[in-house]
Amino acid sequence: MSERSAESMEKSEIIQRCIYVKALPLRELTELALIKDEVKSGNIVILRITPLAEKSVEDVKNAINELCTYVAVVGGDIARLGEERIVITPSSVKIWRREENAVKPSVEDTVKPSIENVVKPSIPVSGMEFYCVKCRGKVNVDKYDIVVYETKHGARNMAQAKCPKCGTKLNRVIGKA
Ligand SMILES: [Zn+2]
Repeated sequence: MSERSAESMEKSEIIQRCIYVKALPLRELTELALIKDEVKSGNIVILRITPLAEKSVEDVKNAINELCTYVAVVGGDIARLGEERIVITPSSVKIWRREENAVKPSVEDTVKPSIENVVKPSIPVSGMEFYCVKCRGKVNVDKYDIVVYETKHGARNMAQAKCPKCGTKLNRVIGKA
C-alpha cells in the first residue's frame, strides 16, 4: 500500500517538474490570465500576438505591458520573437541575449545593446524617416515602434510604422539588437 502511494506521489512530482513549451495565440485580453497561469506553473509560452493585433494594436500594447509587469514580478523573462510572437518564460528559464554571450565583439557589439528594446511596444519619438515602397519616396513618421527582429545574421532593431499617406507598413533596420 505504502509503495503504491509513493509511486503515485512520484508520478505527480514528475508531472509538476515537466516544463512545456506551449505555442498559444492571443486573441483576447482576457486570455492573459491563462497565459500567466502557464508561466506560473513553469511553462514557456510562445505567444502569437497577431490575432489580437488584427483587432486592436492598442490591446496588444496593453497586453505586452501587462505581461512585462507580470514577468518582472514572478522573475521570469519576456522577449519578442520577430514580428508576430513573443516568448514568455518562468523564473527558472532565462532568455539568451547576445550581450551575455558575445563571442567576438565587433565595433557594433561594443555599443551596449538595450534589453529594454527587446519588448518595447511603442516608443513615441518624433521624426523617423522611412522609405515607402508604395509612395516611392521618403516619408516622415511621428510615431513608430521599435522591435527586435531575428534574422539569419542575428537580431536587429527595427523601426516599424505605417505610412501616413497610404497606410503601407514601413520597416527600417536601425542597427544590431
Ligand atoms: Zn506610402
